[in-house]
Amino acid sequence: MRKPGGVLILTTNDGRQEETDTFTCAHCNKIVPVRPFQRPEDIGGRCGGCGGLICPDCVSRGTCDPIEEKLARAEAAYHARRSYGI
Ligand SMILES: [Zn+2]
Ligand SMILES: [Zn+2]
Repeated sequence: MRKPGGVLILTTNDGRQEETDTFTCAHCNKIVPVRPFQRPEDIGGRCGGCGGLICPDCVSRGTCDPIEEKLARAEAAYHARRSYGI
């Protein structure tokens, strides 16, 4: 597994602060904490479409829907609304 994307400080149940590695879901942009020695398939998975690491929610959706395309769609909708004067 390649190096995850960042570090997140989690507060544990007994109030300690713990650093945990994270990755950003390639589909919904969610920050997903990664426990040491977890395999990618335990924390989500790798998308067969775009090859990015994705969160369990997106794995269960079973489709490739990268965040870049969502943003592009949102922007297109925004410009469409503006051109209608709404
Ligand atoms: Zn996701
Ligand atoms: Zn994908």
